[in-house]
Amino acid sequence: MSEKIIAFVGGGNMARSLIGGLIADGHPHAGLRIAEPDAGRREALIEDFGIQAFEENATAIRGADAVILAVKPPLIAEVARDLAGQIREQGSLVISVAAGVRSADIASWLGGDAPVVRAMPNTPALVQTGATALYANQAVTAAQHDLAETTLRAVGMVVWLPDEEQMDAVTAVSGSGPAYFFLTMQAMQSAGESMGLSSETARLLTLETALGAARMALESSEDPASLRRRVTSPGGTTAAATQVLEDGDLAGLYRRALQAAARRAHEIG
Ligand code: NAD
Repeated sequence: MSEKIIAFVGGGNMARSLIGGLIADGHPHAGLRIAEPDAGRREALIEDFGIQAFEENATAIRGADAVILAVKPPLIAEVARDLAGQIREQGSLVISVAAGVRSADIASWLGGDAPVVRAMPNTPALVQTGATALYANQAVTAAQHDLAETTLRAVGMVVWLPDEEQMDAVTAVSGSGPAYFFLTMQAMQSAGESMGLSSETARLLTLETALGAARMALESSEDPASLRRRVTSPGGTTAAATQVLEDGDLAGLYRRALQAAARRAHEIG
């Protein structure tokens, strides 16, 4: 892990996930700083992670190689404008995790051609199995590209997007995606309960099956369609269930659901 200094502006849920991941990944505590206006949250950050936490944004980002903007999207403009002079002087890379805020807007609030990486992580980052898409603007150097990738990889897998417009599709697939799987788990658990399983048994069987299926799909060289064919014998139990899901046009439902999420991401951004 790098010896770079990474400073967070905003110490809420997303910053805590990233800091937890970076520490678990071996990033030195001394290389992590955080700015958080809420005194209680600051205390908790110091206690939980043993890192330096500051009330003032400008103090926290002093000398930072990367500044991660982890405040709510409506606050990004104000925070970026306040820190613009210092960030330009230090030559820091800015990484924004704010949903829907474009890199060109962030660069302009920072005073023009600042290096900006836009990141869309998701909530499983909390347990270091996040999926993050990154987009870098033209001003980002090769070393800064690596720094952004190493930082986000501490909480899961990372992909780079060639085109920032694809962030809306990313929001639909992985940003909002955990909720679709939670909904499926909820439905499978309750179907299991309705057939006489205890709630705990139905829950455990559902969750472990979801985890096992995801692991198999990730570790296999085959795509999910052929994995499914291999576990579905004609006339068998799995075929009986998947036929019902196909009759209900599950694929069409997903297409419409993800299109709705992408449209909403575009409207917000
Ligand atoms: P949060 O509300 O938990 O954290 C934001 C923190 O910023 C708070 O602790 C708040 O006290 C602090 N803050 C407020 N004003 C500030 C200021 N002027 N300077 C410095 N800090 C300030 O929010 P979150 O869920 O961590 O989300 C943060 C960002 O991460 C958002 O932009 C969101 O779009 C993005 N994001 C979150 C998730 C997620 O799953 N939580 C996923 C993807 C992206």
